[in-house]
Amino acid sequence: MIYDAIIIGNGGAALSCAISLKQRNLNILVITKGDCTSAQTSQAQGGINAVINPNDSIENHIKDTLKSAHNIGDTTTIEYMCNNAKETILWLDSLGVPFNRDNNNNIAQRQLGGASYNRACYSSDYTGLKIVHTLFDTANKLDIEFLYQHNLLDIIVEDDISKGVIVQNIKNSAISQYLAKNIILATGGYGGVYHNYTTNSKGNVGDGIAIAYKNGAILENMEFVQFHPTAIKDKFILISESARGEGGYLITKDKERFVDELLPRDIVAREIYKKIQNNQEIFLDVRHLGYEKIIELLPQEYKLCLEHLSLRMNKDPIPITPASHYTMGGIKANQSLQTNIKFLYAVGECSNIGVHGANRLGGNSLLEIITFGKAIADNITTNNIVIDKEYPQLSKAKKDINSILNYNGDKNFYTQRDRLGEIMFQNVGLFREESKLKKALTFINENITNLNKFKIEDKSTIYNTNLKDFLEFRNSLYISKAIVLSALKREESRGSHYREDYPNSSKLFENTTLYIKEEVVNG
Ligand SMILES: Cc1cc2nc3c(=O)[nH]c(=O)nc-3n(C[C@H](O)[C@H](O)[C@H](O)COP(=O)(O)OP(=O)(O)OC[C@H]3O[C@@H](n4cnc5c(N)ncnc54)[C@H](O)[C@@H]3O)c2cc1C
Repeated sequence: MIYDAIIIGNGGAALSCAISLKQRNLNILVITKGDCTSAQTSQAQGGINAVINPNDSIENHIKDTLKSAHNIGDTTTIEYMCNNAKETILWLDSLGVPFNRDNNNNIAQRQLGGASYNRACYSSDYTGLKIVHTLFDTANKLDIEFLYQHNLLDIIVEDDISKGVIVQNIKNSAISQYLAKNIILATGGYGGVYHNYTTNSKGNVGDGIAIAYKNGAILENMEFVQFHPTAIKDKFILISESARGEGGYLITKDKERFVDELLPRDIVAREIYKKIQNNQEIFLDVRHLGYEKIIELLPQEYKLCLEHLSLRMNKDPIPITPASHYTMGGIKANQSLQTNIKFLYAVGECSNIGVHGANRLGGNSLLEIITFGKAIADNITTNNIVIDKEYPQLSKAKKDINSILNYNGDKNFYTQRDRLGEIMFQNVGLFREESKLKKALTFINENITNLNKFKIEDKSTIYNTNLKDFLEFRNSLYISKAIVLSALKREESRGSHYREDYPNSSKLFENTTLYIKEEVVNG
């Protein structure tokens, strides 16, 4: 069986892509390692940007995006995204996403950091969840074929042409190949490599990016990791930017405001982190918004604070910390979402198509994933190159898994995963410098060299999450290495990448950073 397209992932990018392909009567399969709606997209809270209000303008949306990208965004792609933003919102609205409305029944909008206007459409603070649920319902109505709990192990690439994927069924460990004329990676970002210091879920470690890289895909801008200013202290649960967008303050213990809360995330996060490093506690204060407004606009935030801190947002300020949140870098793809491997596409947070540059604007990621997810249907071409036969990658993957299961060392990879997260946050975090980056690199390299000294305790074939966790840990190491080497190469500060030893931006680095076969090149 050869599909027209296989989509890996089940977030906003994958689902919009699947829907638009299916609407063109293509024979498609969606494969995901989670369950029906488990994706980072479901956690998105604040909103999705689009110019709807006639007092706002697309030119301003483009300008804000370019400003936040710090001169390394791709103007053509940014223009495409901003010009199509309203259509994206109307499409979601037509499918049934329950956007909040204003008194005139127009879609309500709020301001997020770095935006010059109230531009983010939202569904209370459950925007991503409502989008995913609506897209998933639509996909089911269209009878789209899904494979849940299937972990991508490899992509079948021959002569720089992608022909299929190798996946492992997590429920019974069976490893199979699926063939398609087009392979679309929508596997999300890699913020999760900052394990325990991130708003991302555990498995969000850039599997798709690591696997594409192994097969010759070019990675771009891997050093650009966005740290969100406001996660709950010690818990690293996001308190959305919408809390500041609705008028929340950032304050010290002495109730002093110290930064304009609506500046871009990189600036706000660094200002907060500087204070925290000086042993100050920082709080997000929304008490003045009042209970009614908090419950109407920030219900999820209210519940999260109550559940995790036993704190009522209308009565007490929330202790916060910056946390790894979003990754601008990824698989290099052009505006048609094509990577350098033929018939292999990358869309959503796993890709870099140049819309975020050095720093993403809040509300622009949901916009990117839906707009470009939909656009893939216009871009894919059919080929008849794929032959229905067993490809050598299948036995290679089986051998790899078998040898991992036979690792019998005395090292615990869960401890090293925690350590990796800590080392990445401390040394490859908001403030970087050569010696810290090299320290992280040494740790990463040691772990890569010693991968076979770990032990997979669970040897069973039924729901072996121990094995899945190990594969994610291995991918985390390769991704972390790409981040560090790219960060070392970028001897300047730009957007989310701040080097204490090179605190200024330099014209020399006004291009993307390419990561090709362990060699970092400024492209
Ligand atoms: C807490 C939080 C709040 C956010 N709020 C906002 C917001 O308000 N506005 C905004 O614009 N952006 C927001 N973002 C960012 C935005 O949600 C993400 O960038 C976006 O949802 C990514 O979508 P995606 O479809 O590319 O990937 P994801 O939604 O991450 O989906 C990736 C999919 O790939 C699957 N996958 C991964 N690896 C494998 C594998 N090996 N095998 C099989 N399947 C695999 C996963 O299971 C998942 O289904 C937020 C992010 C977080 C973490």
